[in-house]
Amino acid sequence: MTLSAQSFTTDNHGWAELLPTRTAKQQLKGSKRVPYVVIGAGVTGLSCARRLAELHPNDEIILLDARKVGQGASGRNSGYAVAISQFSGPFDKSQAANYRRVNRINESGLNLLREHVHSNAIDCQWQEEGFFHTSADGYSARECRFFGEYLNQLEHDHTLLNQDELTQQLGTSLYKTGIHVPSGVLLQPAALVQGLADSLPNNVTLYESSPVLKIERGTPVKLILEMGDVIADKVFVATNYEAPKLGFIKRHIIGSTLSGSFTRKLTEEELNSLGSLKKWGVLSLHSGGATVRLTLDGRISLRNTAEYHGAVLMSDSLLAKRQAIHRAAFEKRFPQLAHVPFECAWSGVEGISQNFTNFFGNQSDNILLAGGYNGSGVSRGTAFGAALADYANGGQSSLIDDCLASAPASWIPPRPFLDVGAFFKVKMRFIGVGLDR
Ligand SMILES: Cc1cc2nc3c(=O)[nH]c(=O)nc-3n(C[C@H](O)[C@H](O)[C@H](O)COP(=O)(O)OP(=O)(O)OC[C@H]3O[C@@H](n4cnc5c(N)ncnc54)[C@H](O)[C@@H]3O)c2cc1C
Repeated sequence: MTLSAQSFTTDNHGWAELLPTRTAKQQLKGSKRVPYVVIGAGVTGLSCARRLAELHPNDEIILLDARKVGQGASGRNSGYAVAISQFSGPFDKSQAANYRRVNRINESGLNLLREHVHSNAIDCQWQEEGFFHTSADGYSARECRFFGEYLNQLEHDHTLLNQDELTQQLGTSLYKTGIHVPSGVLLQPAALVQGLADSLPNNVTLYESSPVLKIERGTPVKLILEMGDVIADKVFVATNYEAPKLGFIKRHIIGSTLSGSFTRKLTEEELNSLGSLKKWGVLSLHSGGATVRLTLDGRISLRNTAEYHGAVLMSDSLLAKRQAIHRAAFEKRFPQLAHVPFECAWSGVEGISQNFTNFFGNQSDNILLAGGYNGSGVSRGTAFGAALADYANGGQSSLIDDCLASAPASWIPPRPFLDVGAFFKVKMRFIGVGLDR
């Protein structure tokens, strides 16, 4: 397939549209010659470009995005910057080193994000209170016990909660058991990435709405865009599930399309009908369960669909259909708010690999790639992006070692088997979801 600017679809429903209008940066026009180019201005590319700028203060770094910043997955996620990952199934002693490795990466990314947000005064509703991991049904109740054991074994702070305690804090009696983990940050994802993009060091030039359509490998590398080209000594690919469009990690990553809705802002009275906490985030202990937040600005956000949809956003008509599923889940949790309308629905595409691994390292001598975090990329992508810049610079660190230790990706068969396999892979996450959806 020949790529064109139309291959990078976008829409105007999401977290970005809840923010004041931002003036996007220019499109790339003409020919440029720089030492370093980063493709993709999500959390991975933004972090990579920022670190490259620190490492090479006298060089210009070009950062390119096909869309406006905030319109990729990094601006469309649920806004959980995770410190401690949950792995489904019983605690597996033989995997303890791997669990610790992933959590070290998460922590590194979270620390970097915290530093960038605070030092640049980025207004992204940053909240350090951790998350609730909840269970409403039999399958997730088992996962709750497994997760508790995992947290005990790895000695992470947590609090077990029963139904009454959850009801009192969150204002819904749906969840029978839960665990609060205090580390982890809730944020407004589009505000985060736009804030990061607008506070990049002076030697980074960001071009938005500037898709790379072709990469001519060689020394140097040449990138072809619609209205120009860039020649660079080193290229960093941070394009997540769209990397295969440029010929990378083909047959190793697919895009799964997720959708959710936001209510309007709740009134004081409606907020008082909820629990004692005025902001919180719930992650289901079932992989198909709903992710639900009471945001700092008083909205309920709920995401509970995921499907293989050709790695593109949903049309308005499909979103309207999915909104019925969001609505049922909302009213099941908050019957006292059944009169509250949704203000909008949104979709986003996450990159997943067959064996849920991440990608990090060289694609050739002068092309590097990081990405594919399977629904948990806000903190991890930040860590991978910075580590990739250090790695390309010949750096050595425990973070680089941790990123390099990501398991190799297993192979995904070619089309049409890919579509069938991907369809079932995404569908399987809902098996046994029951009341958690
Ligand atoms: C609905 C949803 C909810 C999620 N919830 C969470 C969550 O709560 N917590 C969490 O940690 N993770 C979550 N995730 C996953 C997380 O959003 C991603 O893992 C993370 O944002 C990936 O960051 P990235 O920078 O690697 O990729 P992206 O954010 O996808 O950025 C890649 C960028 O590359 C650009 N691009 C692609 N191709 C080209 C090209 N050819 N030329 C130029 N630019 C190009 C794209 O426009 C895009 O902006 C969620 C994902 C979705 C979709």
